[in-house]
Amino acid sequence: MEIKLPDGSVRRYEGSVTPGQIAKEISEGLWRNSAGALVNGQLWDLERPIDFDCELKIIKLDDPEAVEIYRHTMSHIMAQAVMRIYGEENVKLGIGPTIENGFYYDFDIANAKITEEDLEKIEEEMKKIIKEDLKIERFELPKDEAIELMKRKNQPYKVELIEEIPDEKVSFYKQGEFVDLCRGPHLPSTGKVKHFKLLSVSGAYWRGNEKNPMLQRIYGTAFSKKDELESYLKMLEEAKKRDHRKLGPQLELFFINTDVAAGMPIFLPYGMTILKELMELSRKLHKKYGYKEVGTPLIMHEKLWRQSGHWDHYKNNMYFTEKEEVTYAVKPMNCPGHILIYKNKPVSYKDLPIRLFEFGRVHRYERGGVLHGLLRVRTFTQDDAHIFCREDQIVEEVTNVVRFINELYSVFGFTYRATLSTMPEDHMGDEATWEKATVALRNALEETGVPFVVAEGEGAFYGPKIDFHVRDVIGREWQCATIQLDFQMPERFDITYKDADGTERRPVMIHRALYGSIERFFGILIEHFAGAFPTWLAPVQAVVLPVSEKYVDYARNLYEELDKNGIRVELDDRNETLGYRIRENQLKKVPYMIIVGEKEKETGKISLRTREGKDLHDIELKDFVEKVKHEIFVKSSTLSF
Ligand SMILES: [Zn+2]
Ligand SMILES: [Zn+2]
Repeated sequence: MEIKLPDGSVRRYEGSVTPGQIAKEISEGLWRNSAGALVNGQLWDLERPIDFDCELKIIKLDDPEAVEIYRHTMSHIMAQAVMRIYGEENVKLGIGPTIENGFYYDFDIANAKITEEDLEKIEEEMKKIIKEDLKIERFELPKDEAIELMKRKNQPYKVELIEEIPDEKVSFYKQGEFVDLCRGPHLPSTGKVKHFKLLSVSGAYWRGNEKNPMLQRIYGTAFSKKDELESYLKMLEEAKKRDHRKLGPQLELFFINTDVAAGMPIFLPYGMTILKELMELSRKLHKKYGYKEVGTPLIMHEKLWRQSGHWDHYKNNMYFTEKEEVTYAVKPMNCPGHILIYKNKPVSYKDLPIRLFEFGRVHRYERGGVLHGLLRVRTFTQDDAHIFCREDQIVEEVTNVVRFINELYSVFGFTYRATLSTMPEDHMGDEATWEKATVALRNALEETGVPFVVAEGEGAFYGPKIDFHVRDVIGREWQCATIQLDFQMPERFDITYKDADGTERRPVMIHRALYGSIERFFGILIEHFAGAFPTWLAPVQAVVLPVSEKYVDYARNLYEELDKNGIRVELDDRNETLGYRIRENQLKKVPYMIIVGEKEKETGKISLRTREGKDLHDIELKDFVEKVKHEIFVKSSTLSF
């Protein structure tokens, strides 16, 4: 058989060979540093024999493909440790997959609840297993024998899983006394990766279904290098401090009343101030980029949603209401409303593109377990627009949107990258149209110089799309903007335009949202800035603090002067010590505190304390006003309205 390596060289073997053997033949060092292999593009164990012609790539421990392998191996090591500690007969295993940034395993443990304190004990046992450097071996069993084995081991969840596997044979992995149903691949032994940390424990229903037993889920992470683990843990620590669910109520931005409105944030005046700023910025830019703002109803007749396809494909996520025996749906998306506007009057080719924009409030049902502050909610506002255009206008329109995104994100100091998702196997429309549309999206990305990767076959069935992932100050990525081409909705709603030769043609529809959800974007900003918003966004930009009652009148004058100049200012003349009031305003992260006493009153100048704790004296009021005004409008210095 012939095995082709990435450098183009071909190796010939009789019988069978393992990737591990090949790695060893190349060099001892490569073998030591390898985690697995890609065989014809499929992940493969280092010690799993190959007996067919193939292309093979050795995956090194620090290759991106290795992450999956060693993290998943670590989840087995964790399960083995849990069984050793709580007794094999007491532990029923759920599943133990890798997830973004780590892994977890679900356990059903008789008579024991794992606490955060227990994690250390489990970590200790894991270290022992790593030290034992147990060989990890793959074996296969016919399905009935596999079920037999898992029944014997008292693993009912695994039995359930095997029963659903369509294949004749099922694979297992064994390390020491521990055996687990698994597709693999795994590292060749437990000693090969050492840098891990268990992070948390929580409850999780078996298969995410509330009717099933509640299992205990332990989360952990692993890295190939020690410093990578350390910097990840540091980032987590930092993220905890910035958690918007904590900062939101603390800074009086928003709260959530889970009793009456779970997943539906309630915005307080300070939070609303920020949302309004975000909307104002968005409105200005939409105007600049040639959009027309519209408004559509929150609640519309069910027949609209039947026509749009939401009834068939999205019903479980929708809210409904009934009146006079008619069912209405609360809109989960704004598209059908915008189509009604398009259809409101005849459209000629000269009218295109038509760009309709709306701050569209949508409601989408999500299970209680997945709700997360402002990031995962049941209602939110999209900065949503739909562009109706001719096919020959796609490139220009998409390029225009990418430029818009570029300008919007630069205001917040975000860098970003994009993913281009192409035609899935199950798709509507002919391949030539897909090809044209995908090329159009790609051209737009290349023309605007946005770094992107292609996700083959990941597009929606009705069109290709681009997703934008912004990177925040501590290196986390968030998916925000999307641009989606759609060949389906124009068909479903039979929308047309009259071409130059008088024929009726179908426009292309582009769905796009740039913040995505404004509330979610707000949540990301809270964490990105750790609540210390730049002056233009800060709900209170300056606060005037008289040192004592004697100076309240003078402080009020200053307050009025700043207010007149359009600065968001507060007067804090509470009957508390100056030190106390300074601390409180610092906690509120107000950019500027103006402290007023005898000297200030006499000279007419002001003393400033910044939220970073810097003191400035003898400042002319008008200079301060200029400075703040400049900071408020500095966002527009990157923009060109
Ligand atoms: Zn596994
Ligand atoms: Zn849409």
